[in-house]
Amino acid sequence: MQRVTLKDKTFVPYITSDKILASVKVMAQKINADLSDDMPLFLVVLNGSFMFAADLLKEVTIPCEICFIKLASYHGTSSTGTVTEMIGLTEEIKGRTVVVVEDIVDTGITLEKLVTLLTKKEVKQIKVASFLLKPEAYTKTLKIDYVGMEIPNEFVVGYGLDYDGLGRNMKDIFVLDKK
Ligand code: 5GP
Repeated sequence: MQRVTLKDKTFVPYITSDKILASVKVMAQKINADLSDDMPLFLVVLNGSFMFAADLLKEVTIPCEICFIKLASYHGTSSTGTVTEMIGLTEEIKGRTVVVVEDIVDTGITLEKLVTLLTKKEVKQIKVASFLLKPEAYTKTLKIDYVGMEIPNEFVVGYGLDYDGLGRNMKDIFVLDKK
């Protein structure tokens, strides 16, 4: 694998597509075993998760539904400051098992906001599947049920993840070259 330059930054090869797919398969097998009786609704958080979600859900063989959402933040008029909103959820989720599909969990702030929104909708249970997790950066206590790989606190691109809009289409994962 070659290093890649995206705008002003250079990235070096980090996780190959083969390793990614092997790990995604293991995640799917665990989900298949755990949730076979739940008819889960997979909630794919765009944009970054599109590639992971496609690979994961090809390996999920239990009955399920899939929905794609986006999170939008805006400054509300209330004193709470930034308000996070979920866009694109059309399914009724009350009483259901929801599996949040994330590309990466860093501090966990985004995930916690989403889980708060889902809890208000009285779901039966929330499971979280994130392909990448940065344990050193994670500040929350919420359990991530399915993790593909743990990585150090470094900036990565590829496999859906971007740098300033670029790099999402790369099938391997690259890490920022600090040199
Ligand atoms: P958190 O709220 O957990 O700190 O951050 C979550 C979001 O930050 C992810 O969904 C992703 O969009 C972005 N992010 C965090 N770490 C990385 C990274 O290493 N590379 C890229 N491309 N995005 C990241």
